[in-house]
Amino acid sequence: EDGISFRNVTFRYDAGTEPALLDATFDIPAGKTTALIGASGAGKTTIVNLLLRLYSANEGDIRVDGRSIEDVRRTDWLGMLAIAGQDVDLVEGTVIENVRMAKNDASEEEVRQALRVAGISEVVEALPDKYDTWVGQHGLRFSGGQRQRLGLARAVVRNPKFLILDEAMSALDLALEESIRRTIQLQFKNRTLLLITHRLESVRDADHVVWIENGRVRAEGPPAKVLVSR
Ligand code: ADP
Ligand code: ADP
Repeated sequence: EDGISFRNVTFRYDAGTEPALLDATFDIPAGKTTALIGASGAGKTTIVNLLLRLYSANEGDIRVDGRSIEDVRRTDWLGMLAIAGQDVDLVEGTVIENVRMAKNDASEEEVRQALRVAGISEVVEALPDKYDTWVGQHGLRFSGGQRQRLGLARAVVRNPKFLILDEAMSALDLALEESIRRTIQLQFKNRTLLLITHRLESVRDADHVVWIENGRVRAEGPPAKVLVSR
């Protein structure tokens, strides 16, 4: 069975406290876009934390292409995934360096391509020194939306098999988010995309939706079905 599946997963950050995830069973199908939705505190970041193997489930099983995630070598697993989030820390350095930190051996052409897919190449192309422009504290200030697009470029340059976008376009307007999301979906066709978002439009466009509430799966299925039960 391809893709990622959670089977009866329970997780507590601290023993004796309310579980952040309770008996959660759902799928993140391979080669598709899955939207993970739910109110603040529902357990979305916890799911990401478990996928990043920052923690292990207390009970149940997370399976990757049919194998328990615990049986996949950590470096192999982390090497095939990439994540972009809401907050992007820029390092003191050039645009190129800021993207390349996600993949040290990326060529300049790969970095350029990633910036293009992330929808920031127009911004970079307009800079005086382009890819050599210094950003960070003593360089150019980027807006929140521009920073998020640099964060996306960092994830894209890793050319991951599994891409997690955790509110990674929240500072972009709807039209720009939609255009970048579609470009990424095209670029990563047949790869697995997990989208954590509050935007209904993005959820409607997903292949599969997982709705979680209070650490429990409330509904799972195609957008039309899950959005109706909501
Ligand atoms: P979401 O990402 O959907 O907003 P989270 O996964 O962050 O939700 O949180 C799920 C539950 O786990 C919440 O009750 C939250 O307070 C709790 N939680 C999250 N992170 C931690 C942590 N590091 N330590 C203890 N509890 C946490
Ligand atoms: P801040 O420095 O504003 O508290 P961070 O701690 O996230 O924000 O900053 C991480 C790095 O990104 C630092 O080098 C900081 O100077 C740089 N940075 C912060 N905001 C911007 C911005 N809007 N454009 C470019 N670089 C920024």
